[in-house]
Formats: sequence, C-alpha cells, structure tokens
Amino acid sequence: MNADPLTDFSRLCVHTITTKGWDLEEAVDHYAQAGVSGITVWRQWLEGRDPSKAGKSIRAAGLKVVSLCRGGFYPAVEEKSRLDAIEDNKRAIEDAAALGAPIVVLVCGAVPGQSLVESRMQITDGIAATLPLAESLGIKLAIEPLHPMYADDRSAINSLASANDVCDELNHPLVGIAYDVYHLWWDPDLEAQTRRTAEANRLFSFHVCDWMTPTTDLLNDRGLMGEGCIDLRGIRGMVEDSGFKGMIEVEVFSNRWWEKPPQEFLQAIKQSYLHYT
Ligand code: ZN
Repeated sequence: MNADPLTDFSRLCVHTITTKGWDLEEAVDHYAQAGVSGITVWRQWLEGRDPSKAGKSIRAAGLKVVSLCRGGFYPAVEEKSRLDAIEDNKRAIEDAAALGAPIVVLVCGAVPGQSLVESRMQITDGIAATLPLAESLGIKLAIEPLHPMYADDRSAINSLASANDVCDELNHPLVGIAYDVYHLWWDPDLEAQTRRTAEANRLFSFHVCDWMTPTTDLLNDRGLMGEGCIDLRGIRGMVEDSGFKGMIEVEVFSNRWWEKPPQEFLQAIKQSYLHYT
C-alpha cells in the first residue's frame, strides 16, 4: 500500500472506553464518519444488546471489530469466586464469537494480600480452563501485562517477561499478548521481550496512549499520544520490525479528555495518531 501517511487511518482502531460519552451506536457512527478503521468493544458497551446484531451493524458501518475488552480477573481467595470468574470468561469468549471479535483481551487480576505467585498460578489455571471453549470458537486470548502500580488488585502479570512466561506455560497458539505501551514503556528488557513475543507469534494486540508527568490519577490520567513521555515511535518501530502488522489501538482513560465533547477528542486522536504514533 502506498497510502499517504498523513491521511492514512487504515490501521487506526479506537476503544469504546476512550470515547466514554458515546454508547455503541454513537461510537460506531462517529468512528465511521471520521474514517477510523477499527473498534475494540468494551463489554459494558454490549450490555442490553445482542452481540451478534452489534457485530453486524459495526461491520455494516465499515468498521472492523478488533477485539472484545475485557475478560480476566481470575484470582480470588475463595474457590467459588475463581469458578465464577471462569464462567464469566467463557461468556466473554462466547460474546466475542457472536460479535465477530477475534480476540478477548485479558486483564488478569490480582488480590491484595494474596501472593503474586499464587495469583499467577490461578491466572494460568483460569485461562487453561477456558481454552477448550476458545478453541472450539476460534477466539484468541490476549494477556495484557499491566504496569506494576496495578499489581495489588488489577493484575499479577506486570511485565512482558511475566506475560511471556504464562504463555510459555500454556503453550497454545490461541494464547498471546496485548502489548500496551502505557504498561510496558519503562521496561529495560522491552526490546528482548518484544522479540521473544514476536518470535513465538503471540503479539496479538497493540495499545497506545501516553504517560503524563506528573500522573495525577493511577487509572484515569492517561495522555493522548504525544502528550507524555513515552517513546511511541521507537516502541512502534520495534514492534513493527518484529513483524507486527495489526491495528494500532487508541486506549485512553482520561478524566481531562472525558470532560470535553467526544467529537473534539476524536479529532485530537486522529491528529495525535498521525503525528506522534
Ligand atoms: Zn491496553
């Protein structure tokens, strides 16, 4: 393809949570009008909707369903809660299949006070328990390592190495990694681990945003690409040199941006995608 890089949105995907003020139908309309190519649907956006109908209308608008976000949260002290989590992940896999999303992104979970080693074992077992269903429906499961600041209650998998270790253990072509620059940019081992991820054919998703200095909220103060300190071009180059050709997914949780009209935010996303990503 020789598309003009300054108007090429063929790999731009937006997560529905990024434009939080819009429901699914509004997001689809606005993304399609803006020339965005893909959508990652967060599960809340499917509530009260038939996922298969939702998938059809997304495709009819010309958008590609990139992934369903998110499953995970496997670890729990009580066995009953772990089994409930497995059931919930099975529902996510079924919804992804109905929606036509090839990937379920996994925020794997952690329990304050339970050892990270124990949580990682529960995560591995939880994913393994859903693999037969994922296999029967052909859905990929993408483990998203989260920044270590979330190791208490969001994910016991906090580096690309750790995510790769779980993938090695499960050793299944449908288990791979959602690579999010926000969570991984700081890692001195990033280059070697990116190579390891790519060589194992498990780089399933690529999420972008930026790291604000100072960060004023642990969850909802992400920057738009170019607003912060992440070497986005460098990391994207590394990921693409390793063979990744998938969508570039904009996933920004930002109270600052959410205060503005979503339409203004979407235009800023397009500019920031073209100029800083
Ligand atoms: Zn992400």
